[in-house]
Amino acid sequence: MILSQLIYFSEKRDLGPGGVAAILDSARRENERRHLTGALIFNQTYFLQCLEGGRKAITETFSKIAKDPRHDDITLISVHDIDVRDFPDWTMGYVVSTSPELKSALREVLPTPDFSPVLLGAAATLTLMKRMRSMQQTG
Ligand code: FAD
Repeated sequence: MILSQLIYFSEKRDLGPGGVAAILDSARRENERRHLTGALIFNQTYFLQCLEGGRKAITETFSKIAKDPRHDDITLISVHDIDVRDFPDWTMGYVVSTSPELKSALREVLPTPDFSPVLLGAAATLTLMKRMRSMQQTG
């Protein structure tokens, strides 16, 4: 099976009473079923998400995610084939944007200390994703 990795960012809209925890619950449940893995960063304004797995499962899941009213202005950063997963054990790892490790990784790839995915190119995002692998996931 050809493995792909897709990365996008989006802007948060009304998350409803379940907040980000409800998103993580359904993402982890569905991703496990579809053998998808990945990671999500959320900073109260933006989501930055990496999804990896079979390309059919990625395509179907991303089209559901893109229609979700809890976020908007979805912007693709990169989609490419991968030989191995960056997040083999994370059905959807969650790293809070205030984590010191993430802040330090962001300082390496972003021109400002604020987390703004608008300024992130594909190469910088891949570097960030690889650094995230070693971080503690929460949520
Ligand atoms: P349902 O849960 O029945 O959803 C039906 C519809 O309602 C969908 O359009 C859904 O988007 C919307 N919806 C569901 N819950 C709410 C709510 N609380 N408030 C408003 N609308 C709602 N899903 C994954 O499978 N994998 C992921 O990695 C993943 N990542 C996500 C990342 C973000 C930033 C967001 C916002 C959502 C993510 N989701 C993910 C959730 C995804 O959008 C779907 O809600 C989920 O896959 C279930 O969709 P469904 O159509 O199967 O079922």
